[in-house]
Amino acid sequence: MHVAGWASREPRRRGDVTGRQRAARSPGRWSWRLVAWSVFVACLVVGSPFPSAGHAGERPLARAQWATTTQSLSPAEALDLDFRAMSGDTLNLGPFQGDIWLRLWLDGSEMGERRWLSVRWPYARDFRFYLVGSRSADGKPSLLEWREGAHPIGLPAIPTDPGRLLPAFDGKRQFLLRLSADGPTAMQLTLDSVQTERNRLLSRYLLFGIYLGAMLGMATYSLFLMLALRERTYAGYAAFLAATVLYVGLRYNVLGPLLPEFLHWMSPARQAQLAVALMALSGIGFVRRFLQSPRDDPRADRVLQLLMLLALSTVPASAALSGELSSLLVMGMVVATVLGIFWAAWRSMGRGFRPAFNLLISWSMFAVVVLLYLAMLLGVLPYSAVLTLGLPLGSLALALLLAFALGSRIRHKQREEAALERDRDRYRFLSERDGLTGLYNRRALDRQIEQAVDVALRDGSPLSLVVIDNDHFKGYNDRYGHLAGDDALRCLARTMAANVRQDDLCFRYGGEEFVILLPGQTTVQAMAVAERIREAYRTGSASDSGPGGTISLGVAELRPGDTATSLLARGDAALYHAKEQGRDRVEQAPWALPETPPG
Ligand code: GH3
Ligand code: MG
Ligand code: MG
Repeated sequence: MHVAGWASREPRRRGDVTGRQRAARSPGRWSWRLVAWSVFVACLVVGSPFPSAGHAGERPLARAQWATTTQSLSPAEALDLDFRAMSGDTLNLGPFQGDIWLRLWLDGSEMGERRWLSVRWPYARDFRFYLVGSRSADGKPSLLEWREGAHPIGLPAIPTDPGRLLPAFDGKRQFLLRLSADGPTAMQLTLDSVQTERNRLLSRYLLFGIYLGAMLGMATYSLFLMLALRERTYAGYAAFLAATVLYVGLRYNVLGPLLPEFLHWMSPARQAQLAVALMALSGIGFVRRFLQSPRDDPRADRVLQLLMLLALSTVPASAALSGELSSLLVMGMVVATVLGIFWAAWRSMGRGFRPAFNLLISWSMFAVVVLLYLAMLLGVLPYSAVLTLGLPLGSLALALLLAFALGSRIRHKQREEAALERDRDRYRFLSERDGLTGLYNRRALDRQIEQAVDVALRDGSPLSLVVIDNDHFKGYNDRYGHLAGDDALRCLARTMAANVRQDDLCFRYGGEEFVILLPGQTTVQAMAVAERIREAYRTGSASDSGPGGTISLGVAELRPGDTATSLLARGDAALYHAKEQGRDRVEQAPWALPETPPG
């Protein structure tokens, strides 16, 4: 019977525990974050020696000086610039637009093979390398243009490296190197053998290949997930990964040869700025979807939209502005974006949107890497191989963590949907219950009787119903009070529930009228049930509140041509008949309906 167990079927209320508390409570949720962090840190530690993989053969620069000018000078004129000593083999002037002249004393005497000067990674377009000869009679030094590289100079059989790799002489000589800087200038100069440079290039391509494979693998996988789950957040994720790969590939001169022709007229700095704008746009787009900010947090969403606009505006601005200004603009945009996303995720977490916590963890780590990297590009921190490598590693770790975050978001959505479903069930449950007796109410009867009739007509199985009415209940109320009357109604409900089968359904039809639906039962069986209830109520309904009462019952069975309404009407007619016959009895419905009154 549906009444007996109804309390246990009531949907459980959702706990009011917030996502954060739940996440903190279960230790399993922390483990993968710890693993991800450890992998990240381990990668940094293991990865940091990579750019200097050829350290064994590397010779320090004997001496190096630098000077800058915004004018276009000949090498002879440049020699008169005010040169300052470089500390070690790194230089970082922050964003700069103009010529950087480096005066180098290179000593290649100890090496049997040719040396290569490599200049790692300033944003510069044009590299010119001059050998400074001895002074002639008029006191001017002779200058030999040794190598120029508007475009990359490649090593044999290895894709081109940008003109950052320059052949040097044996022996100790003085050289002038001019770079046309066009943005951040953080750089490192090293002097290595061809073999070392070749190995370095190979390991860079290998690492980038792994990086590219991992990132594209995750992006592709997420696109499949998008199709499977119809969840567009995954597309934003894939776009962000692709933009990040583009940036890293451009930054470390791996993607150069693969770029479409029209991108070649852009300087490396502008190419990188374009990639950064794409990263910001796709990143914000992803985060807006991830956090559902258009729906859940319109204020944060407006800020994120503004940031997207800002990112978009850097594209034309970086084409129009000088390298210095456009670098500063793009860096400002990156800082704003990183902080904006952090803020939006923080707010979302504050509202109890649990996946935002995962996003925040992933993002905060990436944000630290990006901000340190920007500090280096700005010239606040010196050039560092670790910081340079931090970005690809950080983005790889971010991609992994975001994949987890996306997973947790999907789970969150599923939980949300399940909770909604439970709520719907609960509201339906409540809306179809009678408050006094706990039986189904009239609304439920309307729905269920239709269903039961449909099933019975389709299967050709019997269906009976019993209509019950308290006898002289008005009088009972008048004599013993309304509360006693209520008690009697509850008692009747219990009596009904105790005397029907699991599949039978009990309803409170109106004030003191009840209906029982008996699927699969004929008149004879229904008469027996009705008789049982009548007897049980008559003998068992006496309570502290008042003496026992009696009930009259009418039984009807579904006949061909019946509808829910006509079945109910015949049950009612049978009840009426029982009342007429003196009450406290069960009557069977007549075959035909009583005549409808004229008019
Ligand atoms: P009969 O034997 O002909 O059915 O007589 P009756 O007095 O039961 O007939 P009637 O249908 O006129 O009266 C029904 C009464 O049931 C009127 C009302 O006071 C009482 N009643 C209806 N709903 C409730 C309820 O929820 N609680 C209580 N205590 N009484 C109710
Ligand atoms: Mg009545
Ligand atoms: Mg009555």
